[in-house]
Amino acid sequence: MQTDYGKLSWEEVRDIDKDRVVILNVSATEDHGPHMPLDTDTVLGMAVAEGVAKAIPDQVLVMPPISYGFNEHHKDFPGVIWIQPETLIAFVTDVTKSLAHHGFRRILLLNSHGSNHPVLDLAARKTVIETGILCVSASYWNLCSDKINAVRASDIGGIAHAGEFEAAIYKYLHPDLVHLEKAQNQNLHDGKSKFFNLDLARGGGKAMLMRWWSSVSPDGTMGDPALATAENGEAFLKAAIEETADLVREIRELPLLERKDHH
Ligand SMILES: [Zn+2]
Repeated sequence: MQTDYGKLSWEEVRDIDKDRVVILNVSATEDHGPHMPLDTDTVLGMAVAEGVAKAIPDQVLVMPPISYGFNEHHKDFPGVIWIQPETLIAFVTDVTKSLAHHGFRRILLLNSHGSNHPVLDLAARKTVIETGILCVSASYWNLCSDKINAVRASDIGGIAHAGEFEAAIYKYLHPDLVHLEKAQNQNLHDGKSKFFNLDLARGGGKAMLMRWWSSVSPDGTMGDPALATAENGEAFLKAAIEETADLVREIRELPLLERKDHH
């Protein structure tokens, strides 16, 4: 069964089950330390989306990814391509509105880059308001944080950006492209702070301050990539696919509710 949106013909789009959940991965092209490539967020996000498609092919369609994101705060590192948040919201909602126009009614914006999280939340809300269809946004690590914590080797602070989690998954997928000999652990967890710590699987970020990335990380890393293993990467990816598949099943069952104008 075809799960790749781009491989469908227009007649197939016309005739396809419109309750299939359309997954749109939005990522970034940016520094991931000296040990990982610029395309890390896209490779990982699409591995999750394609894993879900393989697991439940009759329930999903996977869109070509949007490989650029909201990350101007990274631009002191060579290679970063940044998109203004207003542009990204407009671009993503043009995609979702196109899908709605063709009759699709269940969309998952699957985020794989931290700073896209609030942007995609807004894009999803805007889609619901402007089209009436269902549009959900989720960052894939949030879906599987319990399972990440059951597997991880690093302490709190070890999974933030280009840290244990991302390095392990990329190493599992493409061992030749991850250079752990260049990786340095940069765990910036501050035990004294109640509000400003960030670990993708252990919470934090209760209050938000996003500084220039070059002010807080000497080489772009935040976390403990040197602890990454391909074995843990396989377990992390499996957890992300399982939980995202569960989310897809739930989105597919969500009722389409009518509005009621109380004027
Ligand atoms: Zn990343």
